[in-house]
Amino acid sequence: MSQIAIRGDLLDLTRNPGLTAVASDAVRWRPDNWLLIDSGVIAAVTPEAPGPDWQRIDWRGHLILPGFIDAHVHLPQLEVIASHGTGLLDWLERYTFPAELRYADPAHAERCAQRFLDALLEHGTTSAAVFATVHEASADALAQAAADRQMRVIGGKVLMDRHAPAGLLDPAGGGIEAARRQIRRWHGRQRQSCAVTVRFAATSTGEQLTQAGRLLAEIPDLYMQTHLAETRDEVAWIASLFPQARSYLDVYARHGLLGPRSVFAHGIWLDAADRDALSRAGACIAHCPGSNLFLGSGLLDWQALDAAAVAVSLASDVGGGTSLLLPRAMAQAYEIQSLHGLRMSAWALLHAATRGAAAALRLEHEIGSFEPGCSADFAVWRWHEGTLQDWRQANARELHERVFAWLILATQSNLRETWVHGRRVAGPGATAPQHA
Ligand SMILES: [Zn+2]
Repeated sequence: MSQIAIRGDLLDLTRNPGLTAVASDAVRWRPDNWLLIDSGVIAAVTPEAPGPDWQRIDWRGHLILPGFIDAHVHLPQLEVIASHGTGLLDWLERYTFPAELRYADPAHAERCAQRFLDALLEHGTTSAAVFATVHEASADALAQAAADRQMRVIGGKVLMDRHAPAGLLDPAGGGIEAARRQIRRWHGRQRQSCAVTVRFAATSTGEQLTQAGRLLAEIPDLYMQTHLAETRDEVAWIASLFPQARSYLDVYARHGLLGPRSVFAHGIWLDAADRDALSRAGACIAHCPGSNLFLGSGLLDWQALDAAAVAVSLASDVGGGTSLLLPRAMAQAYEIQSLHGLRMSAWALLHAATRGAAAALRLEHEIGSFEPGCSADFAVWRWHEGTLQDWRQANARELHERVFAWLILATQSNLRETWVHGRRVAGPGATAPQHA
């Protein structure tokens, strides 16, 4: 039984603060408090110093946030991050598919899965919804590496049976048995969850989508993750492949893939009927601002999704995105919404990468906040690092100003350490993963 008390400036959200309110009672600000962790779980937050039985760690003057949740990221694409000169469909052909082919080698997949999760932890991200590759062993490698780190990860073997290189294709209409085996091995084991992972509608036949929908209906609490309406060219291609569908989202809906645990990356080019369908289903959008800017895909209308009561979570979408750092995604999301005339609050941005993402993924009881009973997944950040940040923070007059400037300016070097389930997993003194 381990009892650890961490002292610092604790900030989390108790509910959705809305998109723009700078003053919000959803913000829970507990400066110079103690986070009490008992056997990996949050026991309490208190201003009182704990008794002598508790191991004390003093991060006074540091910002402690719940671990970030990256709602959409690709394991095999870290090695092609920051590739030049293409939009989505060319980018897949030129950079992504060749990288994914290398995951046919299970030893490569295993090495990369470990590096991938360590990289997330080094950016303050403790949970993620992750695309592996079409190879069954790649999803196993991801789940094993996540279990070794005790991270809550949602992952899955990618389903593709057309429009990709031969080495990345399931047999036509197939791949489902491999996905089912992978799900049986890992879904619900320790902190692992599985997702039916359709790459996107263009790379699956109708038959594969039908089988995927049946698999989703068959297994309780299974997730579904895919891409949706990222670029206009892609939307036109989907319309030509599925002429009977009303819209891109309707392709998924018709095949039983739209539900309360469906996570759709992007969702830029949607109409009101799509937003209503997402809302009715309780599905969520993983907004990937960095990727949308880098690939020139489009500018998400967050306000329209919010008005339709569709949950929006933040995501890096590396390698289409150029950083694993979710404060960077917050800054990019803020800039995109500024182009629509919407000035999002720091609270809304933080919520979308912490408690809001947890709620959208039906994991609010476990991650995303400092509620007692949640897993002790959090990161310790410097409020300021370097001359510019020192200067800016010294001029901040109140909490929102301070936090907003922090998230706009933060870099990886602001991070001191990351903890998962009460164990230090990144930063000086981090303990090595234990094979689970
Ligand atoms: Zn993606």
